[in-house]
Amino acid sequence: MQQSIRQEADLIPRLISINPATERVLAEIPALHPMAIDQLIDCSRAAGVSWRKRPVRERQKLLARVQYLLNDRKQEVAELIATEQGKPVAEALVAEIVPALAILKYLRRSAHKVLRRTRIRHELILFANKKSYYHWEPYGVVGVISPWNFPFSVPLPQIAAALVTGNTVLFKPSPQAILVGQALVALFHEAGFPEDVVRLAPIADTEAPHFAAHPGIDKILFTGSTAVGKKVMAQAAETVKSVVLELGGKDAAIVAADADIRRTAKGIVWGAVFATGQVCASVERVYVEQPVAEALLAACLEEIRKVRVGDPLEAETEMGPLSNREQLDKVQEHIEDALAKGARLVYGGKRLDRPGYFMEPALLAGVDHTMKVMREETFGPVLPIMAVDTLDEAIRLANDSIYGLTAFGWTRSRRTAQRLMHELQAGTVMINDATSSWGEPLAPWTGMKQSGIGHTRSPYGLFEMVQLKFVSYDAGRNRSNLWWFPYGSAARTLMSRAMDLLYARRPGVRVKALAGLLPSRRFMTSMPWPAVVRNFYKLF
Ligand code: NAD
Repeated sequence: MQQSIRQEADLIPRLISINPATERVLAEIPALHPMAIDQLIDCSRAAGVSWRKRPVRERQKLLARVQYLLNDRKQEVAELIATEQGKPVAEALVAEIVPALAILKYLRRSAHKVLRRTRIRHELILFANKKSYYHWEPYGVVGVISPWNFPFSVPLPQIAAALVTGNTVLFKPSPQAILVGQALVALFHEAGFPEDVVRLAPIADTEAPHFAAHPGIDKILFTGSTAVGKKVMAQAAETVKSVVLELGGKDAAIVAADADIRRTAKGIVWGAVFATGQVCASVERVYVEQPVAEALLAACLEEIRKVRVGDPLEAETEMGPLSNREQLDKVQEHIEDALAKGARLVYGGKRLDRPGYFMEPALLAGVDHTMKVMREETFGPVLPIMAVDTLDEAIRLANDSIYGLTAFGWTRSRRTAQRLMHELQAGTVMINDATSSWGEPLAPWTGMKQSGIGHTRSPYGLFEMVQLKFVSYDAGRNRSNLWWFPYGSAARTLMSRAMDLLYARRPGVRVKALAGLLPSRRFMTSMPWPAVVRNFYKLF
């Protein structure tokens, strides 16, 4: 037995963390084999029994400690993110640590208010004597599966929201960002969260389906590619498991003829190049109205050539390397495909001759929808700009995609802004800004079409962590309920009159129905009269 377990363990790959700026191995960590995954899930379930009973205020206090600890360690964590994932330290602070701190603060201050049980006032007058509530219950064990591009600020808000609502959490980070995953879980433990309440699950892609399909996991929060998201959805279907899927994007920016071109160029270059373009909500394609197309291209060229590419640990660096070789190859392939189909490379796009997965940011013109760079998620520092004749055409092309994560409009006109906000098919539409809603805890993160299902962050994200339960209390003082047995022709007449009393259009019919009901002993003894009188207005 011992030997067979060891043999099985030998077959499981090790998770290898690589510094994308040097291509050096940072760490090798053994992945869990399926039996170890089963044990981890059992421990998490067992821990949930007492954890879900702890008052929400107590759980909020622990989140406050995570917030303070993270703020103390922000530089250290940002440097680890820069080393393992490749975004510059300043960017790690702004885009990974700030959103995490903001969500921790929001949850510790507001989670109890959002999740307070609410008394309902019954619509049905026959229920007027009952005390009923919307009640929120944790799912149990929540599996958080995360990507490598935002290894900290993607999982942390999900983990914090799952914990504060009384779930236990198993966090499966991307194998490529395992060190950041370890550091994240260590923060929760140091803050006082019990070890089995939140655990790291170092799992290789080969064993990930075992984890996602496991009957011991009650809910999956998956963030990653649409292709893998579809698999996770199928795996979860085996046990009718609830899923939230935050998936890929091909986010469009529309530049209207009246836009402030200098500001727009700054915004869209940042939106395309920020985090080396490896952002689900980065500017992946631009549609600009013809009269300002040349001016926008010139302004973008001026901005993009200023971007300083280099070592993510150096203070002056504005763009680090791609996070892995596959990503670098894919981005290069998209550029080559566009050039082969007639696009013009206005700037950059070349690999840098140094160790690490570095390339120059790229500016492309003369692009169209036959090219991968306009249809498939590129996930790199590439800005393709397409001139269009009208705003209608821009909106049609922006919506001509399987994705719908975020979209951006650039205009000085409120009317055009309103139109874009309504007509662009995306979970988030920002006007005269790009991508920044990631930092706001009240902004829900949610995709339309194949960009996802469900929400994270905001009150709506909290509701994803709990199951709605309807609880109803009846003191049982009336002898029987009107609709119980016995049935029969007298009961039918009674029901019909009660319906006329409640729902008939003409007042005369209602009065007649009441006159027919009053002599009925069954009616008189089964109605909760004090409550009915208090709710008399609901008859109308
Ligand atoms: P990915 O889909 O390859 O992997 C995501 C996670 O799923 C990883 O932890 C991976 O180990 C795991 N995984 C792989 N195979 C699995 C399987 N069969 N079952 C269960 N889990 C499995 O994505 P990635 O390359 O790590 O990240 C990039 C993608 O993530 C991009 O498409 C990007 O748009 C998307 N993303 C989306 C959001 C969002 O909020 N919508 C945020 C960040 C990234």
